[in-house]
Amino acid sequence: MRILIANDDGIYSPGIVALAEVAAKFGDVRIVAPDVEQSSAGHSITAWRPLTYKRTPIKDFEAFRVNGTPADCVVIGAHNWENVDVVLSGINFGANLGNSIWHSGTVAAAKQATLLGLRGIALSMPASRDEPNFDILKPSVQRVLDILLKDPQLALVNVNFPDDRPRGLRWTRQSVRHYDGKVVPGEDPMGRKHFWFSVIPIESTEEGTDRWAVEQGYVSMTPLRLDLTNEKELTAAQVRHPVD
Ligand code: MN
Repeated sequence: MRILIANDDGIYSPGIVALAEVAAKFGDVRIVAPDVEQSSAGHSITAWRPLTYKRTPIKDFEAFRVNGTPADCVVIGAHNWENVDVVLSGINFGANLGNSIWHSGTVAAAKQATLLGLRGIALSMPASRDEPNFDILKPSVQRVLDILLKDPQLALVNVNFPDDRPRGLRWTRQSVRHYDGKVVPGEDPMGRKHFWFSVIPIESTEEGTDRWAVEQGYVSMTPLRLDLTNEKELTAAQVRHPVD
């Protein structure tokens, strides 16, 4: 099995090495990731300038750093390494739960895989510690990959780990709670105004969701799909507003 590994924290993030080390038990691994951090880049692509990459071996892994977004890395990686089976993205230092999926570059890399007809799995952990402890997560990462990599039906899955030794695994749905987006004004050293877009984390959780599972100390696994069509509203709109 050929496993392409990307992320949005940048190629030198310790999370990508931890993921590569576990993934290597399941197949051939190659890392292709952004040269600088691209967190919250979402599913953006670089269409207005050329992309380049440089070889950057990491430990014993073949690795390349790209001057692009997480989605770009998957495109370049799959182009240069034929017959990739699956793209793993992460392990992101920062949870990607509920609404975060919309902004996440980590999840976007997995989504990009499915746009190319490959499978994609995004893996994230909370950034609640100063230093991430991947060692306590590695047995759970292996268990998750053992399930997901061996099931070709699961084309796109968003996985989130708790910040301590997991109690177990849970299949979940995406939390759809809205967040409070706060804009905090400030001033730069030259006296010019600037603004921080600050997302106030959601505290309350709905049972059965990704956020709930992680809060309870479980690993959350959410199968995703790219079709955003609201089927119920489509049917209702066709009835309310018949068009020809
Ligand atoms: Mn990130």
